[in-house]
Amino acid sequence: MFNSLSDRLALTFKNLKRKGTVTESDLNATIRDIRMALLDADVALPVVKEFTGAVRERGLGAEVHQALNPAQQIVKIVNEELVSILGGQTRRITLAKTPPTVIMLAGLQGSGKTTFAGKLGRWLADQGHTPLLVAADLQRPNAVTQLEVVGQRAGVAVFAPERGNVFGHDAALESGEGTRSFGDPVDVAVDGVEDARRKGHDVVIIDTAGRLAVDVNLMRQAHDIRLETNAHEVLFVIDAMIGQAAVETAKAFADGVGITGSVLTKLDGDARGGAALSVATVTGQPIMFASTGEGVKDIELFHPDRMASRILD
Ligand code: GDP
Repeated sequence: MFNSLSDRLALTFKNLKRKGTVTESDLNATIRDIRMALLDADVALPVVKEFTGAVRERGLGAEVHQALNPAQQIVKIVNEELVSILGGQTRRITLAKTPPTVIMLAGLQGSGKTTFAGKLGRWLADQGHTPLLVAADLQRPNAVTQLEVVGQRAGVAVFAPERGNVFGHDAALESGEGTRSFGDPVDVAVDGVEDARRKGHDVVIIDTAGRLAVDVNLMRQAHDIRLETNAHEVLFVIDAMIGQAAVETAKAFADGVGITGSVLTKLDGDARGGAALSVATVTGQPIMFASTGEGVKDIELFHPDRMASRILD
């Protein structure tokens, strides 16, 4: 990931470093190159504008650093602004004063929520926590089973709703009286938190339903789960491969559900990086974790400075 963006920026800086002094027109040319490189990497336009605006302003402001030549100063500014649009500081999960800490996962179908639930559970368990995964995705018939399998692989307990309620082979259906009675995901989430409290789990991770596109009903459902469970963290899970659609999706979840951070998945893929570079700015919330593969251990805390270095080195 980021290979093409990295190569483009490296070339831009190489050209800049050849110059002893940096004139305003050199700065403008550099910013133009950066702008094109970011847009080609699928970074959202408002983010590109904010980024290049800040670099230009600070570049013109010519912060005088005795130890650095003008070109190095521009590179330093670009690095700092990149860290800034990636969210600045590393942000860790805030644990509730009174357990259990409730962490809810929201995002489009296929973004990697269920896989990430297992990874986060394992990661927390490795740190001495006693997490419980809650299967509140009742949209897809096999989502509950999938979470159970994920939990088993990760060695983390799972709270699943009563099967009869979920799959609907219930009396109403059998008597031909109409539709299946799927359980209510909000109730399942609340019951899951209650179960954790009873059994002494100190963290609850709630997996919620997603759709292939933003959907008003599911958004409301996720919003209700957040409110009814008093979720401490709502993590928006986003596939890094999603490209330009990242902005609209991220905004919809930030506005419709209310999120406290994001999780970038599939960073092991060959995405151009746009989602990664846009999501913190678009949502106003930090990226907290990176998921880098399908294995249960493929999870990392997200460090904006390290990600910026990876792009610029
Ligand atoms: P959900 O619908 O949001 O719960 O998404 P899933 O957890 O079912 O993931 C969808 C697909 O993406 C599955 O095939 C996962 O194995 C795969 N996946 C999830 N996270 C990653 C990741 O970080 N890297 C890669 N390469 N694949 C992933």
